[in-house]
Amino acid sequence: MQRKTRRLILFYPDNYPTMEIRGIKGEILDLLMELGRESHPHEFVGLLCGNCGVIDEFNLLPGSEGREESATLLLDMIPLGLSPAGSVHSHPNGVLYPSDQDLSFFPRVGRCHLIVGAPYLQESWRAFRTDGRAYPLDVVG
Ligand SMILES: [Zn+2]
Repeated sequence: MQRKTRRLILFYPDNYPTMEIRGIKGEILDLLMELGRESHPHEFVGLLCGNCGVIDEFNLLPGSEGREESATLLLDMIPLGLSPAGSVHSHPNGVLYPSDQDLSFFPRVGRCHLIVGAPYLQESWRAFRTDGRAYPLDVVG
């Protein structure tokens, strides 16, 4: 069962929306900061989905409990049929850069990856491309 799930996830690139993600809704960002604060000192992991080039949906992956490796392990929990624009997770240590674990995880779930970190203020986040380069993301509406 687990192997089958993994294989299906590899098909996601065919389903990706062709439109480039260029922004994220402010209310989603607020929600992510709130989750960061609530989860602290543990990490949370979630998926971001978008419409018309703007991230407007967030799905918390169940069972995410504060370890850097958790992001990779939780790939099996991605609901089938969901084609995420990218991922989000928190760094309770406040370091707003992807770890080696993150860089191996990013290419598997979409193109745009957010890291939010302590102290979870308005500016406590960064967006990255799958290769770890900065992703220019506007906060909208
Ligand atoms: Zn990380």
